[in-house]
Amino acid sequence: MVTADEIAGIAVFAELSEADRERISRAAADITLAAGEYAAYEGGERALFGLLEGKIEAVKHVEGIGRVVGVRAPGDIFGEVPVTLGTTFPVGFRAAEPSRVMRLDPDDYYAVVAAAPDVGREIGQLASHRISGLRGLQGISFEPSVPRAFVVGERWDAACAELRHFLQRNQVAFKWLRPGTDDLTDQWDGPVPAPEDCPVLRVVDGKTVVRPQLRRVAELLGLSTEPEAAEYDTVIVGAGPAGLAAAVYGASEGLRTIVIEREAPGGQAGASSRIENYLGFPSGVSGDELASRALQQARRLGAEILVTRAIMRIDAATRQVHLDGGDVLRARTIILACGVTWRRLDIEGGEALAGKGVAYGAARSEAPASHGFDVQIVGAGNSAGQAALYFASHARSVTILCRSAGPERTMSQYLLDQLAARTNIEVLTHSEVVRVEGEGKLEAIVVRNSQTGDETTLESGGLFILIGADAETGWLPPEIARDRRGFILTGAELTGTDRWELERDPYLLETSVPGIFACGDVRFSPVKRVAAAVGEGSMAVQFVHGHLARPAAARVG
Ligand SMILES: Cc1cc2nc3c(=O)[nH]c(=O)nc-3n(C[C@H](O)[C@H](O)[C@H](O)COP(=O)(O)OP(=O)(O)OC[C@H]3O[C@@H](n4cnc5c(N)ncnc54)[C@H](O)[C@@H]3O)c2cc1C
Repeated sequence: MVTADEIAGIAVFAELSEADRERISRAAADITLAAGEYAAYEGGERALFGLLEGKIEAVKHVEGIGRVVGVRAPGDIFGEVPVTLGTTFPVGFRAAEPSRVMRLDPDDYYAVVAAAPDVGREIGQLASHRISGLRGLQGISFEPSVPRAFVVGERWDAACAELRHFLQRNQVAFKWLRPGTDDLTDQWDGPVPAPEDCPVLRVVDGKTVVRPQLRRVAELLGLSTEPEAAEYDTVIVGAGPAGLAAAVYGASEGLRTIVIEREAPGGQAGASSRIENYLGFPSGVSGDELASRALQQARRLGAEILVTRAIMRIDAATRQVHLDGGDVLRARTIILACGVTWRRLDIEGGEALAGKGVAYGAARSEAPASHGFDVQIVGAGNSAGQAALYFASHARSVTILCRSAGPERTMSQYLLDQLAARTNIEVLTHSEVVRVEGEGKLEAIVVRNSQTGDETTLESGGLFILIGADAETGWLPPEIARDRRGFILTGAELTGTDRWELERDPYLLETSVPGIFACGDVRFSPVKRVAAAVGEGSMAVQFVHGHLARPAAARVG
């Protein structure tokens, strides 16, 4: 318990009467922090803290990188900005060494300032000082973020696009320099890379690599690519919303949890420019923002997350998991959260221009590059509608190409209304792309009207294809039952069939192999939504506990 004498050591409370300090002492939480532990997270709920012992640093995350922007010593307070303005914490506060802090929740804080208005005035002044001036929050917002890497490459180089997406989805701040621009000559220290070497990556204060493999990039940037242990309570395949949710719950509930992701965290959500219907984000949230928050949360809670590693094989009898490169992990349980893969469109010239203007999905990072161009979107579902709206703020025009008579039956009404209100969005019905054209990059597309047979050539600065997705589960062992399209059968789909051999019924998300679970889009279910994937990922962990608690769930290996 924080004593009244200790409270007198906090400068703003020094002049309070003994009775007032006693009142604070009865309300304040006494918190001990190990070095590196946070007293308050950026974005966390407001509260006022006083530092009793140790040292606290203020940490601001910009583009995924935490930067120390201030320090508090014993006797200082923090949290004055959120309590004064009634907002969440604009920066986080982390112990730089073992520390002890007192925390006053908002109601207790307001009770103190009601009794001692001078304290309220002083805290208000401190808050104003923290916000204004070059050394305050205002100053921080003017400072450009410091990149961790430079990338040199052309917009239309597919390898460069892949590298940029990878960095973005792994929350690595980087600066993209394009050949032939002033930016490159000003910021690239040394001879300009030859076109045949691009894309080139330079890690700030580190190595330069030409045409790097993503695994190498991950290693250079310190992203985990190697498992730390040989056995885990649960191995999660895929770091989309379902896998990240499972990781958050698994790690927070004390399971040794590893997520293995073959590309970068985020899954399909990372390719979505705006998700409008995810609970708790009234004005929508981009897929990469959602994924980036989930990733931070999973890591903070202790989940191990490997990127650029694919699971190639699972041995159903031993539950051994084989990674590419030959590593084998022992898994007490496995959660399959490997989602679905974009359905490809068979168009003449499409493969040659993939990544050079022809893209599957519509990542937010693509939009600025479409600035001032005419772009087309193939598809009539919600993903296509969302992408069109997002791209319309950058592109000169956006044309939605639908094979059907229109998107009315396949797109939500709120999207149809918003599309109708945008003057630079047009919908072409009964239209199919038959050919794409361009030398080294997409320049035009040829569209055929299926009713008249007429073909029209449209100038194109980007063709984004969003026509649904398929489960790619051919790599799973035959013991894991799937439907004819590859979606994994779980729970009730197996009960009473010859694919389930135990006396007990399978858990809701359990596959035909006890202890192996499936969640999210890869599971046989009509619901393909972020919220469903997140819900199922968290539920899967509950079933993992259930399985581990059974006597038959002997240790493997
Ligand atoms: C453009 C777009 C817009 C969307 N908009 C919305 C929306 O507004 N609202 C909504 O609710 N839903 C939306 N969705 C759907 C939503 O994104 C999906 O339902 C959700 O992402 C499914 O999550 P998941 O984790 O099951 O799978 P995924 O997101 O597909 O993630 C699976 C992950 O597993 C990895 N993986 C696969 N196989 C392996 C392997 N063998 N080894 C290692 N890793 C592997 C993949 O690389 C991937 O990262 C949208 C989807 C798209 C593409």
